Amino acid sequence: MHEGTNLPHFASFAAVPAAPGVMTQARRALLDLLFPPRCVICRQTGSAFCPACLSRVQPTQEEAPSDPETAGSVRLSGIRSAGLYRPPLSLAIREFKYRRRTDLAASLSGLMAHTWQSSGVGVDLVAAVPLHEKRLAERGYNQAELLAVEFCRAVKLPHLSPGLLARQKSTEHQVGLGLQERRRNVEGAFVWNGPPLQGATVLLIDDVATTGSTLDACAEALLQAGAGALWALTAARAVVKSGHDRLADGPIP
Ligand SMILES: [Zn+2]
Repeated sequence: MHEGTNLPHFASFAAVPAAPGVMTQARRALLDLLFPPRCVICRQTGSAFCPACLSRVQPTQEEAPSDPETAGSVRLSGIRSAGLYRPPLSLAIREFKYRRRTDLAASLSGLMAHTWQSSGVGVDLVAAVPLHEKRLAERGYNQAELLAVEFCRAVKLPHLSPGLLARQKSTEHQVGLGLQERRRNVEGAFVWNGPPLQGATVLLIDDVATTGSTLDACAEALLQAGAGALWALTAARAVVKSGHDRLADGPIP
């Protein structure tokens, strides 16, 4: 297993300031005081995802990325996820991603940090899965970027500046697509715009991993840029059986 080294030359890739759309902690604290957040699940006042609801998140089993039943990734050393894509986590992620509840980034990344620290894996750099600029303009924020910023703050790892890894192909939504279609849909979708990665081990961050094909396509671009190894960490893992791409509680994102 590779141990993270935090090599000094990687520091130049790191984005220390908060990404656009991320509130400063002081501003958030003031807003929380004036308008106390409500839990997106139980509506209790106090936090965006309250401790009682967080405790109901179902953990995942560690899963090899080469598992032919579920995984579309052949380039990642492994995917770790904070929980299964089931309520309450799936409901919180939909609010976070589609209903502008960006204040959920701290709770979700806190779960992810806990999962990652338990994994014992060392990495040099962290990168968020980018959105295409059109999708970013529609949504107003990249949910993976918000998670990566908060995650890096929690675990003290350098975060790659947004834009170094870019999505050059505007792909259709993956919802409703099977494994092979998802893989074809994102093939060659990502490009690296930075300096050579010189063997660095990179951790990719996203909100949900389904087949792993999006993460795999990012890994392809980073390996071509000289990364030594790739890991992935997501807030949730949607477990699918081959031939099925829907869960009991709705379509997979
Ligand atoms: Zn709650």
